[in-house]
Order: sequence, then structure tokens, then C-alpha cells
Amino acid sequence: MRSLTASELLGAWEAGHPHSAPGRALALLCAAWPERSPGELARLPVGVRDSLLLAAREGTFGSALVGLVSCPPCGEQVELAFEVGDIQVPQGAPPPEVLEVEHAGHAVRFRLPDSRDLAALAAGRGGAGREGVLARCVVEAHREGAHVDTRALPEDVIRAIADAMEAADPQARVELSTTCPACGHHWFAAFDIAEFFWREVEAWAQRTLRDVHTLARQYGWSEEHILGMSPWKRQRYLELAGT
Ligand SMILES: [Zn+2]
Repeated sequence: MRSLTASELLGAWEAGHPHSAPGRALALLCAAWPERSPGELARLPVGVRDSLLLAAREGTFGSALVGLVSCPPCGEQVELAFEVGDIQVPQGAPPPEVLEVEHAGHAVRFRLPDSRDLAALAAGRGGAGREGVLARCVVEAHREGAHVDTRALPEDVIRAIADAMEAADPQARVELSTTCPACGHHWFAAFDIAEFFWREVEAWAQRTLRDVHTLARQYGWSEEHILGMSPWKRQRYLELAGT
């Protein structure tokens, strides 16, 4: 488990801010694992990335997660409360760099999507959704020995690839069994730790900057000094400063 200090969190927030969601998740990872290069972290399969983000989230803000989702048929806001351990898939050996599927006369070699792929797709490069993932991640595809374009792969072969990706990198997809208290609808709500953790960091950073501003103005202390205090002590000074 990794925990980020107040100044590391603020640094990650600043570094990730200009980016889309995949770059923001990467900024959090780089802050939590400074001994690993950004390039190495960017090449981690999405599920491996998410298991690291879960560990950093647990070390920084604790293991309890609470979120709101909209019920698809009635729109009611339903609260989801769970623990990191409830959604953590045990990490075995790292998934292979290249996977292979043989299905319906097709042989396809592909790699798992990583942060570089997510960033390219978020920027609109390489097509949208599943098509974009295939265009970027399929290394080679053959049918009876002849090369096949990824766009010509039949639906059941694409499904076999998606199933193999999910089996090799299971943490990439987290769904929570959810029941709406208003209408009784039951569904599996998707949970994205990258988006969730970033939203928390953003809210925390805005609160913390306000606190630094108040204390710096009152006492003349530096940002570094204020961030170095325990949250408890910072809170006591904020009370004395009359906020
Ligand atoms: Zn409902």
C-alpha cells in the first residue's frame, strides 16, 4: 500500500490537471511510485494500473469508498458504499505482453490496452470504443494463413479477443451489484477507480489550497510548512484563525 503525502498529492493534482482522465491517473501513479519511470507506468495494462491506483487510494484516503450512481430507469441517486477489498482482484503473475486467440479459423495476436491507448482514444486518435482498442492493440491477425485487417474481424472473433483481454487483466472492469431503493431495479454499475480517485483528489486539493491560503495569510507560513503539518494540527490552527 502506498500513501501520498499532502505535498505529493498537490503535486500530482497540478501535474495531472491539464490532462484527460488517463493522464490524470498516470500523474497519481507517478507520484505514488516515483522509483518507476513514467514510461513504464504508462505501459501497464489498465487493470494492473487500477490495482495500483486502488492501493494508492487506500493508503491515502483509507479503504472505505462511497459514491453515487443514477438508477438507469428512474434516475434516483443511489448510494454505493463498499471497501477497497470488495473490488480488489488478487494480482497473480503479470499478464503476458502479447496474447493470442484462435477462433473460427482466425489467429489473432494482441496486447492489453494501457494508459497510452486510453489517452489516444480519449484524444480521438485511432477510432472510438472497441474498434479503436482493436486498431491499437491487435499486433497481427490471420485467417488461414492470410493477413486480415482488424476492421474485417468477425463479431465472434472480436468477442473472443475481448473475453481474453478481460480474463488476462480482470481488474480493468469492476461492476457493483446495485439495487435502486426507489424502483427496485437491479443492475451492475461500473466503477472506475481512476475517475473516482481523481475526483477525490481534486476536492481535497481545493479544500487544502484554501486552508494554506488562510494560514499563510494569518501567520506568514510557507506552503511547504503548512502542508508538512498533520491534518489535525492544521485544523486546530484554522480554528484559531477563526475560519
Ligand atoms: Zn430506480
